[in-house]
Amino acid sequence: MANDPDVVVIGAGFAGLYTIHRLRERGLSVHGLEAAEGVGGTWYWNRYPGARCDSESYYYCYAFSSELEQEWDWSERYPGQAEILSYLEHVADRFDLRRDISFSTTVVSAAHDGDRWVIDTEDGGRWTCRWLVTAVGCLSSANVPDIPGLESFAGEWHHTGQWPHEGVDVAGRRVGVVGTGSTGIQAIPVLAESAGHLTVFQRTANFSIPARNAALAPEEAAGYKADYAAIRELQQASTNGHPFVVSDVDTLALPDDERRALLERAWERGGLRFRAAVRDVLTDPAVNEETSDFLRVKIHETVDDAVTAEALTPRDHPFATKRPPIDTGYFETYNRANVSLVDVRADPIAAITPDGVRLTSGAEHPLDVLVFATGFDALSGPLLRLGIRGTGGQSLADAWAEGATTYLGLGVAGFPDLFTITGPGSPSVLTNMPTSIEQHVDWIADLLGHLRDHDLEAEPTPEAQARWAEHVREAADATLLPQAASSWYLGANVPGKPRVFLPYAGGFARYREMCDAEAAAGYPGFALRARHERASA
Ligand code: FAD
Ligand code: NAP
Repeated sequence: MANDPDVVVIGAGFAGLYTIHRLRERGLSVHGLEAAEGVGGTWYWNRYPGARCDSESYYYCYAFSSELEQEWDWSERYPGQAEILSYLEHVADRFDLRRDISFSTTVVSAAHDGDRWVIDTEDGGRWTCRWLVTAVGCLSSANVPDIPGLESFAGEWHHTGQWPHEGVDVAGRRVGVVGTGSTGIQAIPVLAESAGHLTVFQRTANFSIPARNAALAPEEAAGYKADYAAIRELQQASTNGHPFVVSDVDTLALPDDERRALLERAWERGGLRFRAAVRDVLTDPAVNEETSDFLRVKIHETVDDAVTAEALTPRDHPFATKRPPIDTGYFETYNRANVSLVDVRADPIAAITPDGVRLTSGAEHPLDVLVFATGFDALSGPLLRLGIRGTGGQSLADAWAEGATTYLGLGVAGFPDLFTITGPGSPSVLTNMPTSIEQHVDWIADLLGHLRDHDLEAEPTPEAQARWAEHVREAADATLLPQAASSWYLGANVPGKPRVFLPYAGGFARYREMCDAEAAAGYPGFALRARHERASA
């Protein structure tokens, strides 16, 4: 089977690594193709200062192996990039995954020839396989804004998702950061500590909750290890794949002082748990406005200069309708003498010059280093970059011209035997992703076992896909999420990208139940065809 395994998996992050392991267990031959020089995906690429997890370490990890759970020790509540990368390297070694992965191998096209997938790589290689599984991630396609003059910049510029391995020396230099999403909010406080001057170019002010990171005390770590069965059960039953019980308190019915005390306690606890402390925050506009106001006041209490505080205060979207960042000293950073904020919504960036950034008003900001914390062409972007062609040579780009649609986020009508881990329409980025990834991979592994045992090929039916697209839209519309006009969930951060709410907002537990029902019913949303029928057609 030289270059012709049963399954080719593209990507070797959390998703690709587990897919290789799981499919091997199923007795399938499998090979991974990975653009990077090593495993890790997100945690291989995002090496910017301050990069760390927002999920807590005890559950931002695999659940499939209790030995792995017990043997790995996390050092902090939120592990940093290097520690998560070490964890994934350990997983690759422990389960002997590297022998089936080609690194430094970028897929440039994948076409179904009527029987098999034919995959071409940038270095001239060719692979064929019966089943193609994409594990290319939701946030792996860097979004570098197309600003005139970037090529003329005399300093150095970097996107945070392609950060140099050797690091970037910012000591004493004039540094600019474009972007105040989760990435910018993590990087800005760390860059400010050593930059000579740091200028933040902000287009949309963002809410952020203090992370309250700390070392994991040995007894706390031991407690999690002893409790894993219950933790995993909670995750499986949850909306977001996090092991938090969402509050059942009707906050609006509480007297003012109790409501305030509840929010204060959640603020002190910090992290993404803040969201779970406020019931209905994403569905009830009044609850959300109360919570948003609480957070706005916190910004004004933290930032000394009133004008800067107001510029940092989000007023154009409800809390958590954009992915809420968590931070360590973000708003406090604006009290430093070497940090300034520039509002590029009021005065947009017009050009990059050899010296720095020029705004529309003509104002110049001289820089030595420019950092783009400008996010990703999320969910659909990495899939479209694969150059996928399905039945009759139809391209995925054409199929998705009006916006990305899938069935369950796991497959696309017109593209037989293609399986998309955390594709558009999966709960993916609205959840703790390792939890969704494991569920997707297990489900795909079961389906592939069924297809192999019965010599079938599978492709979502157009009807099932249309119903799912409608359900994804309804699930988003039942929340406040679509109200954030500048959200990458909607594709709004990439000029020209169709505005479709991409992830499934109906909750992880509900999604898992629907996937289980699909499998139990014999996969009615898929056309299952005997392979000899196609071969003789
Ligand atoms: P990735 O880790 O993105 O891996 C995809 C791999 O596919 C990459 O290695 C890439 O090189 C490869 N690839 C893509 N295209 C090609 C191609 N054409 N040819 C060959 N290889 C290709 N999620 C959480 O749940 N909690 C968090 O706290 C959290 N923190 C995050 C922090 C940052 C900075 C970022 C960017 C994301 C974070 N995420 C978080 C989301 C994170 O992406 C997922 O948790 C998870 O790591 C995704 O794993 P994956 O394997 O699906 O994709
Ligand atoms: P992001 O949320 O898309 O933020 C990008 C920022 O850049 C936004 O402030 C955006 O402004 C701005 N921007 C984009 N193009 C611009 C332009 N042309 N001019 C000026 N400003 C521009 O990207 P991100 O911060 O990298 O985060 C993406 C996702 O990755 C997160 O939401 C999260 O899911 C994940 N992530 C997680 C963690 C973590 O968990 N620890 C850390 C980092 C990232 P607008 O808002 O106006 O578009």
